[in-house]
Amino acid sequence: MRRAIFPGSFDPLTNGHLDIIERSVNLFDEIVIAVLNNSDKNPMFSVEERCAVIKEVLPTIDNGKCHLIVDSFQGLLADYAKNRQAQAIVRGIRAISDYEYELRMALMNRRLEPKIETVFLMAAEEYSYVSSHLMKQVFTLGGRVEGLVPALVEAKMREKLENKK
Ligand code: ADP
Repeated sequence: MRRAIFPGSFDPLTNGHLDIIERSVNLFDEIVIAVLNNSDKNPMFSVEERCAVIKEVLPTIDNGKCHLIVDSFQGLLADYAKNRQAQAIVRGIRAISDYEYELRMALMNRRLEPKIETVFLMAAEEYSYVSSHLMKQVFTLGGRVEGLVPALVEAKMREKLENKK
């Protein structure tokens, strides 16, 4: 049983995240998409809202072979991955700018849990500039993010903005 954790903030889920999950389902038997419950950020969506959106969108990339789980976690990723009995942590790399941070995290996690490997995957080039932060920024200022986030995410962001007015 090859089990991987795909951790992140997912605030909100983008097509870049989905692209990484879609590539991972061919490599693992089970993937836990683990939403980080990070209390010191100022999120657009609560952890519960983020998990619910991911659960609703996931069937679109189901390959029928890999079991997909959505969960949230707090604290050390290495501890969480060990408790989940995962062999791997999946991370996406967009550009060289992601690499330095990701390398530090991967090496620290390896020191904490030597048996868990970090696996880096590259999303399609068309998502190489897509981040949750940029999507929120552009959408909040009235820009279009169609094709870069799932339609459900766009609808949820619209709801958030309208509730703020
Ligand atoms: P974090 O808050 O840790 O950056 P994110 O929710 O932004 O978490 O992302 C989770 C993972 O998905 C990270 O490994 C990140 O590099 C990856 N990721 C996010 N967007 C993209 C993208 N457009 N292409 C490739 N990987 C991505």
